[in-house]
Amino acid sequence: MRLRALAKINLGLDVVGKRDDGYHEVRMIMQTIQMYDVLEIEKKKEPGIVLTTNIPYVPTDERNLVYKAAKMLMDEFDIKEGLTMNLEKFIPVAAGMAGGSSDAAAAFVGVNRLFIYKTKVCPLAKVMRRELMKRAVKVGADVPYCVMRGTALAEGIGEKLTRLPRVPHCYVLVGKPGVNVSTKTAYENLKLDDPAVVHPDIDGMVTAVRNGDLDGMISRMGNVFEPGIISKYPVIQEIKDLMESNGARKAMMSGSGPTVFGIFDDKEKMDRAAAVLRESRLAKTVFATDVF
Ligand code: ATP
Repeated sequence: MRLRALAKINLGLDVVGKRDDGYHEVRMIMQTIQMYDVLEIEKKKEPGIVLTTNIPYVPTDERNLVYKAAKMLMDEFDIKEGLTMNLEKFIPVAAGMAGGSSDAAAAFVGVNRLFIYKTKVCPLAKVMRRELMKRAVKVGADVPYCVMRGTALAEGIGEKLTRLPRVPHCYVLVGKPGVNVSTKTAYENLKLDDPAVVHPDIDGMVTAVRNGDLDGMISRMGNVFEPGIISKYPVIQEIKDLMESNGARKAMMSGSGPTVFGIFDDKEKMDRAAAVLRESRLAKTVFATDVF
């Protein structure tokens, strides 16, 4: 079985509070894009999970979210057979694009289809998906969304999901600079009580998306992490500026960074901007795509 694990961007990202257990309460507009890792899954007679990947520094044991997700489901349903998986990664690692979470979602869907679907879990696709999403949050806050895909409002720690209509079609240019940002540090540096912190208008964006209003959506794009992270890594601002001066309607950092994405309403403009970005060498990964 061959599955695609789609990357996500945050069209809007706000952090609204901190819970007693240390997790942050977020409000995010999530959008999957046509950039994906490929997960191949095969049954094997002998028990156990064998995982391989094309990225040498990504772990292939319990620390890999794919392994974790597959094992969780196989243990719960007492599956005696084994699994061989190969993960080919194209989504940049530790980049704010939920690569690992999406791989885990693909593992949930794959293991379910291979061993469980139409046998133990409810055969109705929608209920099945909801069942998987309930388990997915144990692997990571973004994993339920990655099972769901499309456009959604994510609240709570990211697991309370409201499906939104598909955003008006647009093109997305992704540029990841060669710096690493730890999500933990990004949260630690965020001073929520600082009046200078700018919270994006998530409710306004929800309304714009519901009305199919691309201009309204773009005008409300915002990421609460941006100022703090950009002050440490100015290259993020440089990529944003390059995209916007080359035709992007708006460019913004995704998640806790450092990946920048630009929204374009014209494919040719995006392709030209991609060429300029590659030439500039500001980004290590440049990928031109569209929303899913
Ligand atoms: P998010 O957008 O959810 O914050 P991210 O893009 O910051 O995700 P990932 O690419 O998911 O981060 O990876 C973060 C870390 O998780 C990596 O440093 C890696 O060691 C570990 N990891 C575990 N499983 C995977 C996986 N399947 N793919 C990539 N990294 C993984």
